[in-house]
This record gives sequence, C-alpha cells and structure tokens, in this order.
Amino acid sequence: MQEADALCQRARRLLGHREHLLDELGKLCRELTQGLTELAEDDSWAHGQCEALQARLAEGLSVRSVRAASDLLANARKRQAMLRGERNQARDALKELIQGMLGEIGAFAEQTGRFHDNVGRHADAIAKAESLDSLAGVVREMLHDSTEVQALVQQTQGRLHAEQERAGAMQLRVRELEGELRRLSDEVSTDALTQVANRRGLAQAFETERRRIGQGGDTAGLAVGLIDIDNFKRLNDSLGHAAGDVALQRLAAEVRARLRPQDTVARFGGEEFVVLLPDTDAPQAQQVLTRLQRELTASLFMHDNQEVFVTFSAGVTALRDGEPLEAALERADEALYEAKRTGKNRTCVG
Ligand code: GH3
Ligand code: MG
Ligand code: MG
Repeated sequence: MQEADALCQRARRLLGHREHLLDELGKLCRELTQGLTELAEDDSWAHGQCEALQARLAEGLSVRSVRAASDLLANARKRQAMLRGERNQARDALKELIQGMLGEIGAFAEQTGRFHDNVGRHADAIAKAESLDSLAGVVREMLHDSTEVQALVQQTQGRLHAEQERAGAMQLRVRELEGELRRLSDEVSTDALTQVANRRGLAQAFETERRRIGQGGDTAGLAVGLIDIDNFKRLNDSLGHAAGDVALQRLAAEVRARLRPQDTVARFGGEEFVVLLPDTDAPQAQQVLTRLQRELTASLFMHDNQEVFVTFSAGVTALRDGEPLEAALERADEALYEAKRTGKNRTCVG
C-alpha cells in the first residue's frame, strides 16, 4: 500500500514535470517564430543563432535544454536589437555627413560659378578696353577674384578632408558593430549584467572541478544547485524592468559574497543561477542554500522609495560519477520544481 502511494507520488511528480516541459516547449516555439521573423531580413544573424540552438537541442530534449534554447534566443534577440539600433544610428550619422559634404561641394560650385561669370564680364571689359589704365583695372580685379577663389578652394578642401576623416571613422564603427553582432555567440565568460560567470564560465569552472575530482581532490563530492528567483515576473511588472535588473545584480552579489571563494556562482539564464559547491554533499548544499534564503529574506533594497524583497527557490543534487553537468542540472531542476510547487523560498534535494 505504502509502495503504491510512493509510486503514485513519483508518477504525479513526473507528470507535473512533463507538463512543465510542454510549457517550456511552447515558450521556445514562440521565441523561435518571433526571432526568425525579425531576423529574416539578414541571414547571417539568423545563421549563428540557429547553430547555437541546434547545439543546445542536440544535448537532448529536456526542460533544461529547451529552456536554455529559448533563453538563448530571447537574449540574442535583445542584444541584436540593441546593436542594430546602434548600427543604424551610426549609419544615419554617416548619411548626414555625406549629405553635408554634398552641400559643401554645391556651395563651392556656386561660388566658382560666380567666378566663371566674372571671367566672362572681365573678357568683355578687356575687349572694350581702350587704354592701358582701364586694362590694368581689369587685371587687378581678375587678380583679386583669383586670390579669393584660391582661398575658397583651400578652405573647402580642408573642410572636405576633415569630413572625409570623420566619415572614415564612422564607417569603421559601423563595421565594428556589425562584427560584434556576428560575434554574439562567442561571448566572454562573465555575465555583463551581474558580473558573475555566464554559461561559458560555468562550463569552464565545471571542467576544472571535474578534473579535481578525477585527481581524488575532495571527499564529499561536488554539489550542483539551481536557483530561480520567485515571482520575478511580478516584480518586473510592478516595478519595471530596470528594478528587475537591479534585483538580479543584488541577488548575484549577495549569493557570491555569502558563498566560499572556491564555490562557483553563474547566471544560467534570465533569473536563474547555478552554483557549484566543491567538497559538499547534497544535504550540506541544502543547508547552505537554506541559510542563504534566510539571510536574503532579512535583507531588502530600496527602489524608488519602495522596499523590494527578493526570494528564491532552489534545487540541489550531488554530481554522480562521470555524469555531465546537464544530467545533474536536470535533477536539480526537478528538485527546484518541487520547491516551487510546495511554496517557494525553499531548497529541495533531487
Ligand atoms: P516563479 O516564482 O515560478 O519562478 O515565477 P517567475 O515569475 O519568477 O518566473 P517566470 O519564468 O514566469 O518569469 C521570469 C521572468 O524573468 C520573465 C522575464 O521577463 C524576466 N527576466 C528574464 N531575464 C531578465 C533580465 O535580464 N532582466 C529583467 N529585469 N527581467 C528578466
Ligand atoms: Mg525561471
Ligand atoms: Mg522565477
């Protein structure tokens, strides 16, 4: 009877998690369609994303990989929109500059046109001149005109030269921005917003830990924890995205400051973080994160004269012999899901 109960409970949990997987899949499809439609105008940008997406999905169809894929698309889309905006600005400035140069050339043509008219007038005067005196007068006028035109040519040349340099610099900036767009997938290992490791940094830290374990470095093994901020969407909706960003920075800094130097904190996506705790078993990791949750509950920050509380739920698990990080994260995610389901602001073990 007890066994049947346990079995039912396990089945319920699994079914719940599958439903969750479907939700995430739905989100992914939305991101996909949105992203690809927006990017259709430029194949090179869509190309890199598709490759990265395929790589994520090739890791196996799990809640983690699907969500990672949709996060990747959402983030890439945001960054691309920003960079594209910047590039468009630079391109518009360049256009304006070229228009200015054209205006300059037009004005110069007008001035020299006037000089041309003067030459006609002077030729007339020369034809009609009857005395040396009147001829000398025309020559003086002609000399004056040519000095003026010479000065004008020099001025215009100088200005055009300076503008040409500016145009060159701008063109360089446009090219730089376009290069940055293409390099999006080769990001460095630190997350720009929170200054903790990003996925790449996490993968590097995990490899280091794995090598250490291979050398028989620690006794308790490596604990892997997944942290997800509670009700973050609500915080964003009520206080704005900027306050959400501050909350992310605060949380990352608090977690970082409260863990040991040998622990790794990484931003895994949106409002999710991963922690790697060396020489720590699962129950110890649960204690560590529960302590962190208590400490955070007691701390709040101010935003626009409003108190902001941030809590998180977590799932922890012990890395098994030889398994990849993804497998441990999948277990941690199931535990995290359990923590959310049973009231949030708590840590479960998977
Ligand atoms: P739960 O307690 O179940 O985790 O609910 P939740 O609202 O935290 O979870 P959900 O996944 O529905 O919402 C996550 C939100 O995080 C939605 C998204 O807009 C927001 N988010 C993701 N990345 C960022 C970011 O970089 N900055 C800000 N401000 N918000 C972000
Ligand atoms: Mg989340
Ligand atoms: Mg959340």
